[in-house]
Amino acid sequence: MTTTTSMGGGPLRILVTGGAGFLGSHLCERLLREGHDILCVDNFYTSTRRNIIPFLDHPNFELMRHDVTFPLYVEVDRIYNLACPASPIHYQRDPVQTTKTSVHGAINMLGLAKRTGARILQASTSEVYGDPEVHPQTESYWGNVNPIGVRSCYDEGKRCAETLFFDYWRQHGLPIKVARIFNTYGPRMLPNDGRVVSNFIVQALQARDITVYGDGEQTRSFCYVDDLVDGLIRLMESDDEITGPVNLGNPGEFSIRQLAEQVTELVGSGSSIVYEPLPEDDPTQRKPDISEARRHLGWNPVVALEDGLPRTVEYFRETLLGE
Ligand code: NAD
Ligand code: UDP
Ligand code: UDP
Repeated sequence: MTTTTSMGGGPLRILVTGGAGFLGSHLCERLLREGHDILCVDNFYTSTRRNIIPFLDHPNFELMRHDVTFPLYVEVDRIYNLACPASPIHYQRDPVQTTKTSVHGAINMLGLAKRTGARILQASTSEVYGDPEVHPQTESYWGNVNPIGVRSCYDEGKRCAETLFFDYWRQHGLPIKVARIFNTYGPRMLPNDGRVVSNFIVQALQARDITVYGDGEQTRSFCYVDDLVDGLIRLMESDDEITGPVNLGNPGEFSIRQLAEQVTELVGSGSSIVYEPLPEDDPTQRKPDISEARRHLGWNPVVALEDGLPRTVEYFRETLLGE
C-alpha cells in the first residue's frame, strides 16, 4: 500500500489511545513503519499485549498502561483517540465505564491536545446513525439513536465525544478530525470478541454452527483493516479545514445471511447456519456514503470482502489451530 501522509517534516510523536486493540495495533504498526515515535496508551480492557508484542522491542515504540478516563500529561504532536470497547458484548459489560471512556476520555485527550497544540483525531462510529432511516448514510444525517437502550452507552457516548470535539474546535480553535468508522474486520480481531466476522470465522473453523441473529436480512458494510488505517492517516494529515465528520467504510453492502454463506463456503468445514434471537436495537441496515472521503482525502477502499475474508480466515487458522 502506498504511503499517503503529507507529513514532510520528519518523525512525529504520535499518541495512539487504545493502541493495543484491533485497529490501534494496525495503526501503530503502520505509523512505526513510516518512522514516527509511537506512544501506545491502553488499559487492556478488551485487549492484551499480544497484538503489540512484535513492537515492544522497537526503539520508536513505547507502551503505557493507562485508563484515558484519568488525565494524561505527555508531550505529543498527534493524538489518535481510539480507546473504547467496540464490540456490543464488551461495551455492554460495564456500560457506565463505556460512556466514561468515550466522554471523560475525550475531555482528557482534548485537554491534552489543547495544552500541547497537538492535532487530534476521534475514532467515532457509524453507530452515531443508530438504526438509520436514511440509506446509505451521509455525514449530514443526524441519526436515529435510542438514548436509553442497551447500545446507548456506546452510541450516545460516541455522539457526546463528537460534540466535545466540535466544541473544543469552535471554542478553543483546536485542529480536530472526526472519523465515522463503519464495521471493520481483519487479522488481530479477538476470537471471542463477539463481532460477526470473527464469530462466523471461528465457528466455521471449529466446525460449529454459524449463529445468525434474527432472520439474517439485516445488512452491514465491511471494510478491511488496511484500508481503514489508510483512511485514518489520510484524515489526520489532511488540510486544517477538513474537520470531518468523515465516513470511513467500504460501501459494499451484504446481508448477514450472505456473510454466513460466504464464510462457510470459504472455510469448507460443513457448518450449518442456525438462527438465534436478534439483539435489542440491532440496526437493520448500514452502508456508508463515502463521497466526502473520496473528495477530501482521495480515499477509496481497495480490498473487497472476497479478498479480505480469506486473509482473515488465514489469521484465525494460524491463531486457533496453529496451522
Ligand atoms: P478494540 O476493543 O480491539 O480496541 C479498543 C482498545 O481500547 C482496546 O485495546 C482496549 O483495551 C482499549 N481501551 C478501552 N477502554 C479504555 C480506557 N478507558 N483507557 C485506555 N484504553 C482503553 O476495538 P477496535 O475495533 O480496535 O476499535 C478501536 C476504536 O475504533 C474504538 O474507539 C471503536 O469505537 C472504533 N470503531 C471501531 C469499529 C470496528 O469495526 N472495529 C467501528 C467503528 C468504530
Ligand atoms: N488534561 C490532561 N492532560 C493535559 C491537559 C489536560 O489529561 O495535558 C485533562 C485535564 O485533567 C482536564 C481535561 O483534560 O480535566 C480538560 O482540559 P481543559 O484544559 O479543557 O479543561 P480544564 O483543565 O480547564 O478543566
Ligand atoms: N451477528 C450475528 N451473529 C453473530 C454476531 C453478530 O448475526 O454471531 C449480527 C448482529 O446481530 C448484527 C451484525 O451481525 O446484526 C453485526 O454485528 P456486530 O456485532 O459485528 O456489529 P454491529 O452490530 O455493531 O454493527
